[in-house]
Amino acid sequence: MPRRPIVAGNWKMHLNRSAAAELVSALRGGLDGLAGIDVVLCPPAPWLAETADHLRGSSLEVGAQNVYWEPHGAFTGEVSAAMLTGLVDYVIIGHSERRHVFGETDEDTAKKLDAVLGLGMQPILAVGELREEREAGQTPAILERQLRAAFANVDRLPEGFVVAYEPVWAIGTGLTATPEIAQQACAHVRRIVAERFGDGPAEACRVQYGGSVNAENAAALAAQSDIDGLLVGGASLNAEAFTAICRAVAATKGS
Ligand code: PEP
Repeated sequence: MPRRPIVAGNWKMHLNRSAAAELVSALRGGLDGLAGIDVVLCPPAPWLAETADHLRGSSLEVGAQNVYWEPHGAFTGEVSAAMLTGLVDYVIIGHSERRHVFGETDEDTAKKLDAVLGLGMQPILAVGELREEREAGQTPAILERQLRAAFANVDRLPEGFVVAYEPVWAIGTGLTATPEIAQQACAHVRRIVAERFGDGPAEACRVQYGGSVNAENAAALAAQSDIDGLLVGGASLNAEAFTAICRAVAATKGS
């Protein structure tokens, strides 16, 4: 079975309430019903409910940028997976900014993954190496460590599971990985998934590339056999650019 492509837009901590609503409206107008692809918008947490309301009845889906593993309690500022249930379809876990700005560990990522899977939401599990790790030839080992740690308590992957390969040196820097480098790393992600869960789940697992994706480089990245979609930061804040990226992926993967 061919893997269904997926493009997600990570808005990070950008856009006030009215700008977010305007963007959702423009994207619904440009992307609703786009065939053969999943499109996911990941706004800041305060705009999740409004975004979900606005997208109801459309083909676009909603994702959270982060989650906490405990179901409830004295955890000021955190949002639990239970609170996201019914509100979002996807949850980004292990984004490099969570790992490297907020100090999240591989163990934290594993607990978040367990919480999200346990409640039937679809994770977008982000992994990727730092520039110095790539330069030291450690990329395969870093991906293996991050994935194996995240999967520590996972027995089976749900249908359509998403891993986002995001080299840290490419995020928000304008330094996109070449399609060849991205393909090599995404193929490695799939190999690790195969070793852990078997060939079937690995073939079904969707692997995104993320890191300075834009309307110009999206098609070449999506043309790679192990790249099933894109995780987009900066360019997802621009309706025209994000629409073009989604259309490029749909066209490339559909052809
Ligand atoms: C991201 O936030 O996941 C990302 C890839 O950002 P950007 O596209 O801006 O590099």
